[in-house]
Amino acid sequence: MTTIRQLLACRVLTGLGSRHDIPAEVERLDSRRVLLVSTPSAGATADELAQALGGRVVARFDRPAVHTPVAVTAQAMEQVRQTSADAVVAIGGGSAIGLAKAVSARSGMPQIAVPTTYAGSEVTGVLGETEDGVKTTRRDPALAPGTVVYDAELTVSMPAGLTRISGLNALAHAVEALWAPDATALTDAMATEAFDLFLRHLPGVLADPADLAGRERLQSAGWLAGLCLAQTRMGLHHQLAHALGGTFDLPHAELHAMLLPHVMAFNLPFAPATAARLVRVVGADPVDAVAEIAGGYDGPTTLEAFGVPRDGLREVAERVAAAPYPNPRTVDTDELTELLDTVWR
Ligand code: NAD
Repeated sequence: MTTIRQLLACRVLTGLGSRHDIPAEVERLDSRRVLLVSTPSAGATADELAQALGGRVVARFDRPAVHTPVAVTAQAMEQVRQTSADAVVAIGGGSAIGLAKAVSARSGMPQIAVPTTYAGSEVTGVLGETEDGVKTTRRDPALAPGTVVYDAELTVSMPAGLTRISGLNALAHAVEALWAPDATALTDAMATEAFDLFLRHLPGVLADPADLAGRERLQSAGWLAGLCLAQTRMGLHHQLAHALGGTFDLPHAELHAMLLPHVMAFNLPFAPATAARLVRVVGADPVDAVAEIAGGYDGPTTLEAFGVPRDGLREVAERVAAAPYPNPRTVDTDELTELLDTVWR
């Protein structure tokens, strides 16, 4: 059987200080009218870039929201119309990058993505948008930014908690790629390296958040994990994250962090090749290793702590079991309810 892989054509700038080359990238795009999107956390970097670009920045938008609400995109599109912007630069986490994708999808504008977390959206042609509480996800290589700038200096400001859960969000992309039915040698290699880099360098960065060499390694791991997400089908972990996040309006990275060790414990006995690979990488039980990282989070680590009603879990389990994403373990409602109950507690 023939398998077809769509690899994304993308320019990637890496290196400390690489953000200073963004004006040259804007020039390369022949853009004269930039829409600059940033999260409040990236405000200073956006100010610095706006100064470097001078009159080329015609609009700024600093209110991107998680899960790319269509109403927020409409506000940004209004700015695009009023200013005739011809390119979008997004600096921030997955929320800023998602908004730039949504704007580009509606306007055809080229994008430059400058990630400041490890979410990985910058290297995927995936866009999840929400309207009236319903999340719709589409995949199209044309949605992916044409230029990505990985400057690890922009990740230093992530507090330890965000570093930890954003790292776990990326680890989830890597783990699911390993047990995906459409995994290839390429995605196996990227996922394995991502897993290894995260486990090796996360403790050092958590101990010293300004450790730039460690930050560069974690950013590389996030890049690889994002590429895994782009190239394989998501399984139970992402399905539960989408279902719970959509139903109870839960924060993205926290949810991934809290789910991952439980889904790994649930799935790995049914994915022996992935389990063996992770044991080789970790040199110990991979579930314990991930649970230890997740357990160190200083924010909510259970669904109960997020105020999720325990009696609402079965309905989520039913929905997931009724139309499951491809997963190494066949899921039924009872088992899933039990799994969710463990995460709840
Ligand atoms: P986010 O962009 O929502 O940011 C979370 C918080 O962290 C925000 O308050 C932000 O201001 C802050 N922050 C970001 N970078 C920081 C930094 N360097 N220092 C200090 N604070 C910082 O969160 P996220 O986890 O990066 O992205 C989540 C969003 O991305 C969700 O909407 C998710 O659906 C989407 N996503 C999409 C894909 C895809 O392929 N389409 C992949 C992963 C995530």
